[in-house]
Amino acid sequence: MKAKGFDIAIIGGGVIGLTLARALADRGATTAVVDAGPVLPQATHAAAGMLAPSFEYGEEFGGPAEAVYRLGALSLAMWKDYAAALEEETGVFVDYRGDGALGLSYRDAQTELLAEQAARVTSLGGAAEMISGDEARELEPALSADIVAALHAPKDTQVDPRRVMAALAASLEKRQVEIIKARVLSFGDGEASRQFVSVEGDAYEAETIVLAAGAVSGLTPMGLVYPVKGEATAIASEGVITRVVRAPGAYICPKAEGRLVIGATEEIGPLDHHSVSPAAIAGLRANAARAVPALEGAEELERWAGLRPGTPDGAPIMGQDEKGRFLALGHFRNGILHAPAAAQAMAALILGETPPIDLAPFSKSRFSSGRDG
Ligand SMILES: Cc1cc2nc3c(=O)[nH]c(=O)nc-3n(C[C@H](O)[C@H](O)[C@H](O)COP(=O)(O)OP(=O)(O)OC[C@H]3O[C@@H](n4cnc5c(N)ncnc54)[C@H](O)[C@@H]3O)c2cc1C
Repeated sequence: MKAKGFDIAIIGGGVIGLTLARALADRGATTAVVDAGPVLPQATHAAAGMLAPSFEYGEEFGGPAEAVYRLGALSLAMWKDYAAALEEETGVFVDYRGDGALGLSYRDAQTELLAEQAARVTSLGGAAEMISGDEARELEPALSADIVAALHAPKDTQVDPRRVMAALAASLEKRQVEIIKARVLSFGDGEASRQFVSVEGDAYEAETIVLAAGAVSGLTPMGLVYPVKGEATAIASEGVITRVVRAPGAYICPKAEGRLVIGATEEIGPLDHHSVSPAAIAGLRANAARAVPALEGAEELERWAGLRPGTPDGAPIMGQDEKGRFLALGHFRNGILHAPAAAQAMAALILGETPPIDLAPFSKSRFSSGRDG
């Protein structure tokens, strides 16, 4: 059998794979995306869509926190135009907001942590300020009277990831990027410069292979990427809250058409991306209602779970492995945020151009124990 050939084959059609495919197609590369569909988990479908680097700059994982913040901040700055371009090109509304985010505190210890976070963000050139509980309630009148202070990040915001994926699919169709629905069983074992992608019942050749396969693929080098399960729910709520609110124990993201997403739990390890614990959802809802009492008792629209692609140090893996295959993995809690900047950086790397950010902190080689396999 003669295998069908592409310049570039991207394994994985989540937000990271599709934004990269779009960036590569714009540069003229014949690109295909191979995606397993619902048989394997897709974190992107489960995401809340916060674009909130000001709350994600932390050193708790011991990784390159400053580099992660800078990647997020660059991508946040790109999102407004990216969303507008997607909408104009495809006619698909992606619900980009641009109206800021609030992180809430009920007591002094929480206020101190938020103030430290605000100081870190501003020291790196970001926009973050501490405001009083009353000032927070001026921005969001439905907030509880118990809130004593808040971190206000005026540039952090959100999109709707499911709408973004619909727009990306339409955009790739226009660019004639082939999306192959199949599970890849092995990859990168071809001879010389032609690498081989073996899928169920078929095979493809590509000059270049990119692994963007999320948390569970059967292909990622052992110990490098692992699932971090997150459960979330959506309730019916129109106009109660207008921007992203991050309360202790739950975040609240108002979306179009009266849908409000409340998330999310974090559990390392489970492969199960279907089951949702009633207790977890009840806990999220209680924490959300403590911050915004008017959400109490609102009708539930949906509940779901997803698997974030975590890495040992909480930072993504972007670069090349020893066999010359490209890796676009491990965006953990921030793949939606990172996608536009990560796509530009990876496309440049793949095509031999200078990436817009230094990718060295994200190299796979930072994990001495990461084996290839
Ligand atoms: C509950 C929850 C809330 C989140 N909220 C946010 C948020 O607010 N903001 C934010 O920025 N991020 C958020 N995230 C994180 C974000 O969803 C991820 O970082 C991002 O979606 C990762 O994208 P990805 O393309 O790398 O992986 P995925 O979206 O998981 O896509 C990987 C794709 O690869 C395919 N695949 C895997 N193996 C194979 C194979 N062998 N052959 C073919 N195809 C394969 C899968 O089917 C899947 O479609 C959240 C995640 C969860 C779970």
